[in-house]
Amino acid sequence: MTTSGDTRTPKDTPKDVLTELKAHQAVVSDLVQAQAVLSWDENVYLPPGAAAARGQQLATLSKVIHERATDPQIGDWLEVLEPSNDTKADTDEAALLRETRRGYDQATKLPEDFVETFTRARSAAQSAWVGARATSDFSQFEPHLEKMVELNLRQADYLGFESHPYDALHDLYEPGSSTEKVRAVFAELRDATVPLVRDIAERGRNVSDAPVHQTFPEDGQEAFAVKMAAAFGYDFEHGRLDRTVHPFATSFSKYDVRITTRYEPGFLNPALFGTLHEAGHAMYEQGISSAYDRSALGYAVSLGIHESQSRLWENLVGRSHGFWRWAYPQLQETFSEQLGEVSLDDFYAAINKVEPSLIRVEADEVTYNLHVMVRFELELALLEGALKVSELPEAWNAKYKEYLGVVPPNDAEGCLQDIHWSIGMMGYFPTYTLGNIMSVQLFEAAKAAQPTLETDLEQGRFEGLLGWLRENVHEHGSRYQPAELLKRATGSDLDAGPYVAYLNKKFRALYGVEGDGADK
Ligand code: ZN
Repeated sequence: MTTSGDTRTPKDTPKDVLTELKAHQAVVSDLVQAQAVLSWDENVYLPPGAAAARGQQLATLSKVIHERATDPQIGDWLEVLEPSNDTKADTDEAALLRETRRGYDQATKLPEDFVETFTRARSAAQSAWVGARATSDFSQFEPHLEKMVELNLRQADYLGFESHPYDALHDLYEPGSSTEKVRAVFAELRDATVPLVRDIAERGRNVSDAPVHQTFPEDGQEAFAVKMAAAFGYDFEHGRLDRTVHPFATSFSKYDVRITTRYEPGFLNPALFGTLHEAGHAMYEQGISSAYDRSALGYAVSLGIHESQSRLWENLVGRSHGFWRWAYPQLQETFSEQLGEVSLDDFYAAINKVEPSLIRVEADEVTYNLHVMVRFELELALLEGALKVSELPEAWNAKYKEYLGVVPPNDAEGCLQDIHWSIGMMGYFPTYTLGNIMSVQLFEAAKAAQPTLETDLEQGRFEGLLGWLRENVHEHGSRYQPAELLKRATGSDLDAGPYVAYLNKKFRALYGVEGDGADK
C-alpha cells in the first residue's frame, strides 16, 4: 500500500519508509500535472459556457492536492528519514528530503482557515483588479490591495522569517534568496543602468524600429517562430504551440511541455520573441532528468533559474547580431515584401531599440529591470507600512519619473498593469531581474566551456549551447538550490557584474555612446 493513512509496523526500515514517501510523491505529482492540463485547457480551448464547471473541477483538485501535501504521514516519514541521513550530503536522497521538508513545512505552516480566507480574498481581488484596470479606476482595487498586503504579512508570519517579512514571501519563489541580496544586486544594476539609459537618450544615434512595425501575416509569423524554436531544440514531439492572450509555458511532465504565444499583425516582436522566451522556459522543463520523474526533485528549482533560461534564449541568442546573421535571410524569405530591402544591421537595431516606456512586459533589455526595481521598492514600502495603499498610484508615478523619465497618463498603464498583486503574489517580481542577471552568468560560462559557441550560433548550430544548459542546469531539476546550481555551473555566486558589462558593451556599441556605465 502506498496511499496515506497506513500505519507503519515497527519492522519498517528507513528504506521501506523512503519507498512509501516516493510512492506518495508520485501520486501528488500526477495530480499536480493533471491540474496543469485542466488549467492549460481552460486558458487555450475552454468554451465560455464551461468556466464555472471547470472552476469547480480545479478547486476540487486543489483541495485534494493540498490534503495530500499536508498529510501528517509525510511529517512522520521525514522524522524517520532525516536522522538516518546526512541531509547536507551531496546525494539525490538528501536533496529529496530537503525538498520534501521544504514543501511540507510550507504547506503545513499555513492554517486551513487562513488558506481559505486567502483563496477567497484573491479571487475577489482579481476580479476587482480586472474591472479597475479596464476603467483605470484604482479606487475599485484599493481595498482589495489593502487586504492582500495584510494577508501577505500574515502569511510571512506563519512561514517565519528572521529579518524581514519580505524574505519569507520571496523565498516561496526563489529559495535561499533574501531581501538583502536582492537589494545589493539591484543597487549595482541601477547604478549602471541609469547612466546608460541617460547616455543613450542624450547622445545616442537615432534607431528606428519601423522595420518591425509593418503588416506581418500571422501564418508567416507562426511558421517562422516554430522554425526557430525547433532549431533551438524545443522538442515538438514533447510539446506544442498554441495561442492565448497572455503567453505562458506549462509542464505536464518532461514528456509534454507546452507553450503559447500571441500574434499582433502589425508588430513582429510579440509572437517572435514571446515564442523564443517560452521555448526557453519549456526546454528547461523538457531537460529535467527522467530519474526525477514524479518526485519532489522533478520540478524546476526556482522562478529566477526558470527566467534565466527564457531570457537566455530570447535575448542572449535571439536578440544577438550573430544569431541573426544566420536567421535573417530566412526571415527575409518569409517576409520578402516587408524586409527584403531592410539591412541586417537595421533589423538588428530595430529589435534592440531602447526606449523608456510605461509597460514592463514590452520593455527593452536595458530598461526592463528598472520596471522590476520600481515594483520591488514599492512592495517593500507597502509591507513595511512606509507607504499606504492609497498613496500607491502617486508613489508609482514618482518612481517612474525618477527611474525612467516617463509618467503614466492613468493607473491602467501605471500601478494596475500587472496581475501579480491581485493574485496575492508579493516577493515575485525580483525573480525576473535575478533571471536576467543569471542568464548572462550562465551564457558566459557556456562560452568559456565552448570556444566555438559564438560561431556555432552564427551558423544556426544550437546543440552545443543546449547541451551545456542540459548538463549544467536543466537535468538537475530541484537537486541543487538555486545558488548552488549557479555556483556549480559558473563557479560564481549571483553577480550583476557580467550583466552590467553585457548591457554596456552591446548597447553602447549599438548607440555609439562611449563610457563604461560608471556614474561618477
Ligand atoms: Zn518568463
